[in-house]
Amino acid sequence: MKRVLITGAAGFLGSHLCDRFIQEGCHVIAMDNMITGDLKNIEHLFHLKNFEFYNHDVTTFVHVPGDLDYILHFASPASPIDYLKIPIQTLKVGALGTHNLLGLAKEKNARFMIASTSEIYGDPLVHPQTEEYYGNVNTIGPRGVYDEAKRFQESITMAYHRFHGLDTRIVRIFNTYGPRMRLNDGRVIPAFMGQALRGEDLTVFGDGSQTRSFCFVEDEIEGIYRLLMSDYTMPMNIGNPHEITIKDFAEEIIKLTGTDQKIIYKPLPKDDPMQRQPDISKAKEILGWEPKVGREEGMKKTFDYFKSLTQDELTKTEH
Ligand code: NAD
Ligand code: UDP
Repeated sequence: MKRVLITGAAGFLGSHLCDRFIQEGCHVIAMDNMITGDLKNIEHLFHLKNFEFYNHDVTTFVHVPGDLDYILHFASPASPIDYLKIPIQTLKVGALGTHNLLGLAKEKNARFMIASTSEIYGDPLVHPQTEEYYGNVNTIGPRGVYDEAKRFQESITMAYHRFHGLDTRIVRIFNTYGPRMRLNDGRVIPAFMGQALRGEDLTVFGDGSQTRSFCFVEDEIEGIYRLLMSDYTMPMNIGNPHEITIKDFAEEIIKLTGTDQKIIYKPLPKDDPMQRQPDISKAKEILGWEPKVGREEGMKKTFDYFKSLTQDELTKTEH
C-alpha cells in the first residue's frame, strides 16, 4: 500500500486529494494546522484504518513515522483576503514549510509535489500563459507575499531536484472551484454565490473587464494526479483555458441562481491581474489530460453545495 502525506489536507484542494488517494487504495497521512481549513472537509475519512490526521504547522519541524512514497505540499493560504490577513504565515509556509517537507522527502526518499500557482505569472504580459513565461510580479505589493512564496517554493524544489536528485513535481494550478470552498474566503465564486444566496448585490471589482479561467475541482484533481504519476519534473500548468470576464461571469451567476440581484462595482484591489488563461498544451501532450467539466455543469454542482449549507454558515462573515 503506497503511503502519501498531504499537507493542507483540511482545505479545499487538500481534502479532495485525500479522497482521491483513498480511492486509489493508498494510506493517507493528512496534515493541517487549520488556519484556513475545516475538519468538516475530511471528517468522513476519520473512521478509515488507512487514514490518519496530524494537526501540525508545517513551518516547524515535520516528523512522520514510517515510510512515505509521496508528499504533496498543498498547505498555504490561497485566497487574496486570507494571504493579506496572514502575510507572514503565507511567506513562511511557502518558504520554511517547503524546506521542511523537502528535507522529509529526502529522508524518506519520497516523490515530492508542490502546489504552485498561476500567480507566479503575476499580472501577465504574455497571454495565454505558457510554462516558459517568467512572469510579472510586484515583489513588494500586497499580493507579493503569496506570489514570491510560491516562486521561492518552485526554486527550492528545483534546487533539491538538481542538487540532491530528489524526484519532484511542480503543478501550476489556475483558479479552481467546487464544493468545499469556504463561503467567506473572498474568492470570486464563493463571494458571488454567497451574495446571491443572501439576497445581496454582486460585488464586481474594477470595471469587471479582467479575466479568469475557472477549472472544476474534479478536473483539477485528475490533472494533479496524472502529473504526480508521470515522470515529468518541470513545472506544468493545470487549469481550464475557458476564459471569461468577471462582469460576464457575474451575469452568468445571476442567471444560474435565478436571483434578481444587481451588479455593483467596487475598487479593483492593487495588482489584481488583468487577464489569466492557462496554455495547457504540455498537459494535453504529456499527460493526455484536459478538462471535461464545462462551467455550466461545474457551477451548478458548486451552487448546490453552497445551497446545502446551513443559514448560520451562510451568514457567518468572520473566519
Ligand atoms: P485552502 O485555504 O482551502 O487550503 C489550504 C490549507 O492549508 C488549509 O486547510 C490551511 O489550514 C492549511 N495550512 C495553511 N498553512 C499551514 C501550515 N503552516 N501548516 C499546516 N497547514 C497549513 O486553499 P486551497 O484552495 O485548497 O489551496 C491549496 C493549495 O493549492 C495552496 O497551496 C494554494 O496555494 C494552491 N492553489 C490553489 C488554487 C485554487 O484555485 N484553489 C490555485 C492555485 C494554487
Ligand atoms: N472579484 C470580484 N468580486 C469579488 C471577489 C473577486 O470582482 O467579490 C474579482 C477579483 O478582483 C479578481 C477575480 O474576481 O479579478 C478573481 O478573484 P479571486 O480572488 O477569486 O482569485 P484571483 O484574483 O486570485 O485569481
